[in-house]
Amino acid sequence: MKYVLGVDRNMMSISTGFTKEVRSHLGGETITNCYQCGTCTSSCPVARVTNRFNPRRLIIRSLRGRRSEILSGETLWLCCSCFNCQERCPQKVEIAELIYALRNIAVGEGNIPKIYSEFISALYSEGKLVKVASFTEKKRAVYGLPPLRKTDVEAIRKILLETSFGKVLKVLEEKKE
Ligand code: SF4
Ligand code: SF4
Repeated sequence: MKYVLGVDRNMMSISTGFTKEVRSHLGGETITNCYQCGTCTSSCPVARVTNRFNPRRLIIRSLRGRRSEILSGETLWLCCSCFNCQERCPQKVEIAELIYALRNIAVGEGNIPKIYSEFISALYSEGKLVKVASFTEKKRAVYGLPPLRKTDVEAIRKILLETSFGKVLKVLEEKKE
């Protein structure tokens, strides 16, 4: 059995069903370029502070087809999208984009951290990710800032429903039932 940087070459050539699925999503196309050198992990500010996140490991687990573990876990959501890894990857794996692709697959199945589903609901119902408290509004005047303009919620909803956001809302609704 031949190994490259500790990775079984035969295993790396396996194209699992999940790998194909990831590659078919925007951003996931480069996953099979990875040869597990670990440059991404050594460049990652999140991996530096917690062992709950490791982009190299996330990639090898995806290549091995550990679909449900990847999509239902928290790991995907710990990336802060700084793109350090992507700039340094010698194999031009678009790691941050790949993580977006994995997140999109996860969201399509209703796997999304509560904080993000709350943002989605707030954007749809209020037209804002975070509700602005009347206390904050009043403070604007103190600092000489103009009042916030009224949000056109209907227009925002129309835009959201014209995009795939509508599908995400449907998935989240179904999950609640
Ligand atoms: S830096 Fe690139 S090739 Fe190296 S492990 Fe990360 S994704 Fe794979
Ligand atoms: S984009 Fe994500 S995975 Fe890449 S270095 Fe930044 S936090 Fe780490």
